[in-house]
Amino acid sequence: MWIDSHCHLDASAFDRDRDEVVAEARAGGVEGIVNLPGHVAHFAAAQASRQRYGCFTGFGIHPMWVAGPAGRSTRDDLAVLRSWIERERPDLIGEIGLDFFVEDTDVLEQEWFFAEQLKLAREFDLPVSLHVRRSQDRILWHLRRIRVRGGFAHAFNGSLQQAEAFIDLGFCLGFGGTATFPRAHRIRALLRQIPLENIVVETDAPDMPPSFLGGMGAKIRNSPAYLPRIGAMLAEVRGVSSATLASATRDNVRRILCTPSREG
Ligand SMILES: [Zn+2]
Repeated sequence: MWIDSHCHLDASAFDRDRDEVVAEARAGGVEGIVNLPGHVAHFAAAQASRQRYGCFTGFGIHPMWVAGPAGRSTRDDLAVLRSWIERERPDLIGEIGLDFFVEDTDVLEQEWFFAEQLKLAREFDLPVSLHVRRSQDRILWHLRRIRVRGGFAHAFNGSLQQAEAFIDLGFCLGFGGTATFPRAHRIRALLRQIPLENIVVETDAPDMPPSFLGGMGAKIRNSPAYLPRIGAMLAEVRGVSSATLASATRDNVRRILCTPSREG
């Protein structure tokens, strides 16, 4: 059985058939989904999905919703996030991070939101799900300054040295659709090199379509139901059976999300 460690189940792409998508994922061997709404306006929908489907749920403000093409958040949203954490006790904080790939963004504002959300994760002793794009070293700098209990570095795309630095800080690295492409040499090499106990698998659905859906430019919706097929491809790259990768990565998600907090 698999766990999808990074999914956006409340995206509008699933509005017409969310129940069917979750049922299909379950029938195919996906026992859990980590759902990350990414914006305060979507927290209520995520909480509903948590109740309806038993998703692991993260509340957080995504860097693309801070000051980028997707929208703008105001600093008041941080207080909204805090009240959701206090009231609903999410499983993690996320998706949070820094995205220096997009051009139309306010870097200082991203850094402010990221640091403040790390402080919330530390205060509530919650793991985090990180969005790391062209920002590995800067994120590591923040993580060394504001120590959290670890979590997931989603869609990891850094060097082996950077991967080891994240692992030292208590993180598992997320692999998904990108690693299904034969030309993704660096990511596939990482998937072979890092310890199995630090690997998780993810779809990032509805985004990050794997090779069998036609790739990054494709308009085809990714889905948590594709995780077993993506996982089988990743297992082949790693040189282990699908069952081995499924159980190891499921255990890794559970270790991160289900270890009782110090408050506990
Ligand atoms: Zn995401």
